[in-house]
Amino acid sequence: MREDRKEKAKHLKEAFLRSCLDKKNPSFFLLDLEKFSLPQLEEAGVEEAELDLRLLIQEAFSLDTKDYLLRKREALSAFYQKKEAYSVFNRKIAPGESADSLRCFSGALDSALTRFFFFLALRLQRIPLSQILGRQEFFGLSFLVNENVLSPRQDTECIVERILQEEREKGEEGNTNEKQISVLDLCTGSGCIGLTLAKHLPCPKLLLLDKSGKALEVAEENYRRLFPDKAEEVRPSEQQRVYFLESDLFAALPSFMEEKDISGFDILVSNPPYIRRDVIPTLDDEVALHEPRTALDGGVDGLDFYRRIAKEGKGFLLPGGRIYLEIGYDQGESVKNIFQKEGFTNVEVFQDYEGRDRGVQGTFPP
Ligand code: GLN
Repeated sequence: MREDRKEKAKHLKEAFLRSCLDKKNPSFFLLDLEKFSLPQLEEAGVEEAELDLRLLIQEAFSLDTKDYLLRKREALSAFYQKKEAYSVFNRKIAPGESADSLRCFSGALDSALTRFFFFLALRLQRIPLSQILGRQEFFGLSFLVNENVLSPRQDTECIVERILQEEREKGEEGNTNEKQISVLDLCTGSGCIGLTLAKHLPCPKLLLLDKSGKALEVAEENYRRLFPDKAEEVRPSEQQRVYFLESDLFAALPSFMEEKDISGFDILVSNPPYIRRDVIPTLDDEVALHEPRTALDGGVDGLDFYRRIAKEGKGFLLPGGRIYLEIGYDQGESVKNIFQKEGFTNVEVFQDYEGRDRGVQGTFPP
């Protein structure tokens, strides 16, 4: 697969260089690159082809948006300010000559182009942009992502926002000023929900839990990046406030909590898999083919995880503890019922920034 991609990238690069040679003189270097690539991305079914292309070019050529816009219409010669980089376009390519013989570019330009065409080859296969760039922004923070985790979605920010807002309100009422808040983030994936909360809440005790060890590696790396001064806390120690646990939902939790002397959590938060199994193949290729299926598959009716969390989760909440769960836009009533039946109170559905149902919250009775 990787080799295929490299081959594909090589062919794309060669075709681009040939198209430049045919024109003899590519007057606007980045613009030419765009004109060459955009129709291919559109043809492949990439939804926001123009935006993605710009971000891939910026990444490959190390340009921020301002530089990119300023330099988009620059001639190649100006682009790298080297005469020899330009010379390749002033001679005819011999039949059968390969891209290798075109390497009279400056080294920097050549490797940026190679990088770009590798990215393009990946995007043409509908690999998500976030996985190509290796990062996704969430709540103003940059998270490392790869194929082992669901890339953070903007939709999910409303779950974090809801918790922070309620904590803020409590703080204003004078209730929780000094209190440490312990948070359990189930199905944490990249760690985006839990780690963002840890950035904004006062010294939370945080446990990030996932069934996938590979996902937890990503969450741990995100912790190291976002909390560089506390990275040693990743190592097990009695003082640590951020824990990582590989567990199929609550399975490994009782013994872990006993070992760490944790009696319960104030907040249980989760973006569990909630897509109905038969819907998965109808999702965009980026999601259906390239994001971890285990992060999406919520069982036949999409509600498997809510039933398990409602039933088993109670044992891990402190009295008066709260749950906040992401849901699909059409799952509000069903999930609300599931939690009410299990004895949760104040169960409420809340909306994302687009006004669609996106979360359910509730309280474990004191
Ligand atoms: N919201 C995700 C999507 O766009 C699904 C997330 C989930 O199943 N938890 O597919």
